[in-house]
Amino acid sequence: MMMVEPDAERVEARLVAGDYCCGACGTGRLRPWGFARRRRLRDRGGELVVRPRRGRCGSCLVSHVLLPTVALLRRRDLAEVIGEALRARLVEGHSRAAVAAEAGVTPATARNWLRRFAARSPEIGALFSTWAHHLDASLGAIRARGSPPADAMEAIGVAAAAATRRLGPGSLWGFVAGVSGGLLLSNTSCPLPPKG
Ligand SMILES: [Zn+2]
Repeated sequence: MMMVEPDAERVEARLVAGDYCCGACGTGRLRPWGFARRRRLRDRGGELVVRPRRGRCGSCLVSHVLLPTVALLRRRDLAEVIGEALRARLVEGHSRAAVAAEAGVTPATARNWLRRFAARSPEIGALFSTWAHHLDASLGAIRARGSPPADAMEAIGVAAAAATRRLGPGSLWGFVAGVSGGLLLSNTSCPLPPKG
């Protein structure tokens, strides 16, 4: 699985052009290889259907699902809905009930997001802090916010701001989904921070 930009036409063009490097061997280029199953993503009571492209590496022959950064791995809600729920709770201090209502999910789902994010927050904080300094070498230390989840959210905000300064404006939660490899709430593996 690889995270790619949400624009399906651009993904298609880049896939055909051999722009995507294989995440398994690190050297091969991906070529079009059919489609993954459709995914129905929840968007605060609405629905977004995506059908991710598959690519297969010309060298090692491993195939990858190209998941658009509107989604997170193994989550039914849009990355933006989940991200805004985390921010509302951890930065703005909204109640858990309010966060669930705003996201259009059950309180149990919102609680699950918060619990999973809290469990991953030391790694997430470290990953986004590394990215922030990678994107802006002049940055100082990132301010501590008093708890690992709040610190992780602060690092995400600082890294996203650095990305905007360096690369121009883009979707905050798309950036987060891309950088975390879609694993904001999953601890199956940790994406590598940038080199150099
Ligand atoms: Zn490969």
